[in-house]
Amino acid sequence: MCGIIGAVLERDAAPVLLEGLRRLEYRGYDSAGLCVEGDGVLRRTRRVGKVSTLEAAAAELRRGGRIGIAHTRWATHGAPSEANAHPHICENNVAVVHNGIIENHAQIRQRQQADGYRFTSDTDTEVAAHEVHHHLTAGRSLLEAVKSATAVLRGAYALGVISSARRGEIVAVRQGCPLVIGLGDNKGEYFIASDHLALLSVARRFIHLEDGDIARLSGAGVYIEDRRGRPVERRVVTSSATPDAVSKGEYRHFMLKEIYEQPAALAETLEGRVTQARLLEQCFGPDAAAIFDRVKEVRVIACGTSYHAGLVARNWFEGVAKIPCRVEVASEFRYRHPVANADTLILAISQSGETADTLTAMQSARERGFGPALAIVNVAESSLARACDVPLLTRAGPEIGVASTKAFTTQLAALLLVVI
Ligand code: GLU
Repeated sequence: MCGIIGAVLERDAAPVLLEGLRRLEYRGYDSAGLCVEGDGVLRRTRRVGKVSTLEAAAAELRRGGRIGIAHTRWATHGAPSEANAHPHICENNVAVVHNGIIENHAQIRQRQQADGYRFTSDTDTEVAAHEVHHHLTAGRSLLEAVKSATAVLRGAYALGVISSARRGEIVAVRQGCPLVIGLGDNKGEYFIASDHLALLSVARRFIHLEDGDIARLSGAGVYIEDRRGRPVERRVVTSSATPDAVSKGEYRHFMLKEIYEQPAALAETLEGRVTQARLLEQCFGPDAAAIFDRVKEVRVIACGTSYHAGLVARNWFEGVAKIPCRVEVASEFRYRHPVANADTLILAISQSGETADTLTAMQSARERGFGPALAIVNVAESSLARACDVPLLTRAGPEIGVASTKAFTTQLAALLLVVI
């Protein structure tokens, strides 16, 4: 689950979208892309890797599109590649960015293929673009087309949609993944984002959409309907956050602040990974299902606080999932000569993702012939997240207090997701 930015402006949108993507980089991603609409034409650039790479490639998009959407992707369906990066476009008519998982994408894809739609990616997202296109060609407004399209989607998602056939507007939907509307500091400017922090350089007033809400943004303003199709006014909140500051706010010290941040941090850990009724298994990434199928045993390797999270999880793995689980201090594991088993999942835990013993233990487990490695980490760009087979981010945000609080509780929540 990664980042969405969208902008309706009275100036060129691409520089603003790229700045927004840079502010979302902290969440980790594998590819990025943007699409602007100008003179009834959609122009798109996508790249695997850094936003800076996209920026260099998107030079020709800098002029002539005053409306656009952009995305950083963390692949759940289909490998990280340019073809799978968002936005996804249908018939040079509809462009879509998507966070989350569309669970019933396979059935929808089958039906759309039978209807003659051609697919250019392996993502779950592309069905949304085709579905909106299908309803637009029936003559609907963009809002109505997106509404009809989302009526068939199951899962947890946030979408941003533009169309060259319905110029000058963005339609956004929130269903289980966060989406916020920014009311621009400049008159007539409106934004969408998956995280309001990404918009702080252009907006300070925000509307947090509720689940089931659909919104239309145009130069004339913002219109929102709730899940039952009734027009609603959502509260406008003014953010006091400064773009870059990490501050104690109203708290005496960081540890106290971080204790109180736990509910929000836990919500972030679960965001887009569970629906009300179930876990979205694909949230672990495209390779995870095959990996989980062959696991017969779990070996947790970690140090300090993360080791203690592992000890809690052992009760869950054995008591709930009925899978044997051993927990080892990484610095012991790396110097022992453990007997390897290819069906053993190595589960490395580290807040920073840079704990040297844990990283080395994971690498040595691989060399010895243990099974694949899943890493629970808080820092997306960390060495552990990059070196493992399945990274699972806790998304606790920076923990400055020395005694671990929200980093630990979010590790437990992430471990529970794995147990389920
Ligand atoms: N499920 C979509 C994909 O795999 C979106 C992933 C995301 O939230 O970044 O492309």
